[in-house]
Amino acid sequence: MPVLDERLVPIFEEVLSRNPGEAEFHQAVREVLESLGPVVTKHPRYADSAVIRRLCEPERQIIFRVPWVTDNGKTEVNRGFRVEFNSALGPYKGGLRFHPSVYLGIVKFLGFEQIFKNALTGLPIGGGKGGSDFDPKGRSDAEVMRFCQSFMTELYRHIGEYTDVPAGDIGVGSRELGYMFGQYKRITNRYESGTLTGKGLSWGGSQVRTEATGYGTVFFVDEMLKTGRSGLDGKKVVVSGSGNVAIYAIEKVHQLGGTVIACSDSGGYVYDPEGIDLNLLKDIKDVQRDRISDYALARGPKVSFVPNGSIWDVPCDIALPCATQNELDADGAASLIRNGCQIVAEGANMPATPAAIRLFSSAELRFAPAKAVNAGGVATSALEMQQNASRDSWTFEYTQDRLAEIMRSIHDRCLETADEYGSPGSYVAGANIAGFTRVADSMLALGVI
Ligand code: NDP
Repeated sequence: MPVLDERLVPIFEEVLSRNPGEAEFHQAVREVLESLGPVVTKHPRYADSAVIRRLCEPERQIIFRVPWVTDNGKTEVNRGFRVEFNSALGPYKGGLRFHPSVYLGIVKFLGFEQIFKNALTGLPIGGGKGGSDFDPKGRSDAEVMRFCQSFMTELYRHIGEYTDVPAGDIGVGSRELGYMFGQYKRITNRYESGTLTGKGLSWGGSQVRTEATGYGTVFFVDEMLKTGRSGLDGKKVVVSGSGNVAIYAIEKVHQLGGTVIACSDSGGYVYDPEGIDLNLLKDIKDVQRDRISDYALARGPKVSFVPNGSIWDVPCDIALPCATQNELDADGAASLIRNGCQIVAEGANMPATPAAIRLFSSAELRFAPAKAVNAGGVATSALEMQQNASRDSWTFEYTQDRLAEIMRSIHDRCLETADEYGSPGSYVAGANIAGFTRVADSMLALGVI
């Protein structure tokens, strides 16, 4: 494990002791602190002012009961969370995740990451995250609606255009956001579009928001390839997951001339050597809400389904983990390296384990972290907020151009910052340091609050 700068050790120890049992949060904090040694050496004011300690402590953490009734009359009780982590740059901004694995440590890791990611976009948004241990899988529409209404009946009092603006994440797509926005509107009697992002186009949403995280991921990869005077044309790509981020990453890879030959869900992966049939995948995942194994059944014998297999065993030029945290471990990383993979870019949040990242950095492989790569989603959410505030709506082409420009600028800022702080070519160092300095400078300007 890389050594932490001695000035940062007590800060990390404090995080461990004050947040026991929150392994994902510890991992996310450590990953940022590992990059900050050269920063506190060059600018001791960051170490002296306790700004890093303050950054590691959320401004506010809300935990609440979410009771709801199933179709057959049984009462269920879930737990809801909203962690309002940092508002130095703007209102708290970050998605809501509905998944049985959600607990405070997951929400805090995601909220912490979100601070730096949002800072990197250059837009005026702070960092937050929320969600619930509710599992929408296998629930009827009516059950999902009742859950979302109950969730919003508590959350509404904490959010707002100038306070905290949630969006989607795992398990929260346009259906869930619709039910939550409806309940917010009903309770407050106000049509405040700027309170949630990821909305449908007919009720205040932005063009490209649905596609933004996946598209932005691929725009970032395209920038990485351009630095080596190459492009996506002819490249074989593996994308894990088959949700929102994965589907639109696949779409953009295909538009730019690459071929995605494998994707997955939590039951296994499909290998489709001719390239994933995106219309079929969208129908199975978005409309039927079926499993990836059904994709293989529908495609016939030329496509194989590997239950519980590791998608990282499929040889490829580029790997895009777009499913969930810690899905790409040292074994997966070793397999990618062995098979000649050249680029790994994180579409999901923190999908590569620290051991996997260490292997990547010692191999001839370029690795780019989530807070830079998948920032296109939240950046387009901020564009949605701009349109809501001005009661305007932009065209698909204009919005996509803005997204591509933002991704280019994040990419370039990462490389410039990495150079400036003595880690040329390291997207990890560049993203952590560029995100950190923007937030920390604002925090210093605002005083001890
Ligand atoms: P979705 O719920 O739409 O999709 C998640 C996908 O990942 C599903 O196909 C799910 O399969 C699959 N999955 C979950 N666990 C595993 C696993 N262990 N192995 C393989 N596949 C798995 O979520 P999103 O696409 O929205 O989010 C994916 C990631 O991207 C998350 O890390 C999220 O935080 C991040 N992200 C999302 C943004 C957005 O705009 N949506 C913005 C920025 C980051 P199954 O159905 O079997 O569970």
